[in-house]
Amino acid sequence: MSKRRSLSGSALYLALIALIVAGFAFWAFNVSLSSSLADLENGANQRLDLYTATLDSEVERFARLPGVLGLSPAVNSLLDAPRDLALQNQVNRYLEHLTERTGATAIYIMDRHGRVIAASNWQQPDSFLGENDAFRPYFKEAIIGQSSRFFGIGTTRSEPGYYLSQALDDNGGGKVIGVAVVKISLARLEHTWSQNKALVWVADANRVIILASRPEWKFATLGLLPANELNQFDQTRQYNRLRLKPLKIDFLRQQSSDARVVRWQAPPGVAESTWHRYLEQTRPLSGSNWQLSVLVSLAPAYSLAYSRAGLAAVLAILILTGLVLLNERRRRLRDKLAAREALQRAYRQLEQKVEERTADLLAANQQLKEEVIERTRAETHLRQTQAELVQAGKMAVIGQLSAQIAHELNQPLAALSTLSANTVKYLARGNLDTASGNLETIGQLVERMGRITGALRSFAHKSQASSGQAELTRTLDNALFLVDQRLRHGAIEVRREEAPGLVADCDPNRLEQVLVNLLTNALDALQDQAGALIVIRGRQDGDRIELTLHDNGHGFSAKSLQHLFEPFYTTKPPGVGLGLGLTLSASIVSDAGGTLTAANHPQGGAIFTLTLPAHSGEHNHV
Ligand code: ADP
Repeated sequence: MSKRRSLSGSALYLALIALIVAGFAFWAFNVSLSSSLADLENGANQRLDLYTATLDSEVERFARLPGVLGLSPAVNSLLDAPRDLALQNQVNRYLEHLTERTGATAIYIMDRHGRVIAASNWQQPDSFLGENDAFRPYFKEAIIGQSSRFFGIGTTRSEPGYYLSQALDDNGGGKVIGVAVVKISLARLEHTWSQNKALVWVADANRVIILASRPEWKFATLGLLPANELNQFDQTRQYNRLRLKPLKIDFLRQQSSDARVVRWQAPPGVAESTWHRYLEQTRPLSGSNWQLSVLVSLAPAYSLAYSRAGLAAVLAILILTGLVLLNERRRRLRDKLAAREALQRAYRQLEQKVEERTADLLAANQQLKEEVIERTRAETHLRQTQAELVQAGKMAVIGQLSAQIAHELNQPLAALSTLSANTVKYLARGNLDTASGNLETIGQLVERMGRITGALRSFAHKSQASSGQAELTRTLDNALFLVDQRLRHGAIEVRREEAPGLVADCDPNRLEQVLVNLLTNALDALQDQAGALIVIRGRQDGDRIELTLHDNGHGFSAKSLQHLFEPFYTTKPPGVGLGLGLTLSASIVSDAGGTLTAANHPQGGAIFTLTLPAHSGEHNHV
């Protein structure tokens, strides 16, 4: 659809261009033609000048001749005595001689009745002599005292000629006694014209062509003449009863007041034009009512106009092509600018988006930073809480241990009391050996009590560290020492099968707490159990240290196994268990990068498996 529209659009475009080119060519054609026509008109005028001058000079040569005849005494005498034959012969010879000398066609004298009384052609058979030409206008005008000029065809020999006539008077008497006539032929002029291939004619007052360079033009009329006019010609025998036909030239248009464009089909060889168009330039001849016309071919003007039109068309095409190209270039430039602007706009939008995104990112980053700070704070807080919880768990263990520790301390205290009383007695008796033996025992008891309180203090110590190295054997020793009283009281056997020199990457105090937890749980499970046994195994497996605590107690119920490590899960009566021991132990182990799992042992009882990263130091042995 749009393609068809663009096709019709371009067709319209082409049609417009063609119209402009044609218009331009038409304009150039007209301008060229009118300027050429003006030139041709000029040229035609110059030719007219020339032809007028030659015609005038041809006629003027004879102008005075009729008047001169009046001066001849013989002529005057003959007019007085027309029947005097001798005189007539004399005048005839005189006229003949004059004709030969001047080149006129004929010279003759008429009496006042119009009869020819002497003629230059007196000896020729068709002599005018004796003829009466009273009806001829040149006689009629001359007899009334005017000199006359008349073109006509001779009545005798049908020879066209120009008649110059003048009245002859009786030597100053003022009375017209005759008429002198000089007939001249303009054939020589015509001959020159036709030889020069000039296209020229002379029309008389009757619009009849009397002289012409083309023979077919001669005695043609310029337009159709009315019948009464033609009748009059017959009476005056001006054209000797010749049939006058209109000139075969078509009038096309009036070019100026005295020039018009005509069409005339020239015979071959006359004109180079195939257009048959000519400029007809006309001018009245002074001293007569004749008109001289020339034809000038318009072919050169037309061919020049055509070539100029062609040139103009080419020029117009070039200019239009230039304009189209310029327009195209401008359009392309505009497109380019638009594209650049669009690109810049897109770039600006992109920049704006980037800025917005950057701002978003900065805001998000800021938020993240704040969140990180918040998390760090929360983590620190959590750690503190955890540490406090661990400590609280430890305190709970200590609380559980306190009864047995008090019992543990009571024994040496009672012994101290007895021993110190006895020692005082022995000292009073002077039994120094026994007294010193007692004091030694007292020292040992105090040392033992110190060890118990030391271990307790060390256990109760609030550890902030989450790292360190724990020698497994020593840490186990410490933990077992703390529960020693319960072990002994419950007659529980502890079998240790740990590899020597195991060192784990873990805070020893916290590992001790974990072990005390696991041991107290085992002790609880082994309460009142005959043949109670705790087997502790420790080994290194690659970069891990694995420790298992297996008791032959009642083991876990299915529910216990599921909730074991959850906070506040306990199966123990209130006041005995808090349900935090395993939760905290698992958390401590996990902090150290280890694991704590529980299971029922296939041979009965519970088994805890503890793994910790092995310390890769010098204490590390396989
Ligand atoms: P508490 O000792 O205060 O109950 P724990 O978290 O240490 O809290 O233990 C949770 C529970 O796990 C105990 O109540 C007990 O039921 C079970 N448990 C722990 N150790 C053993 C064990 N060695 N044998 C049987 N059950 C155990």
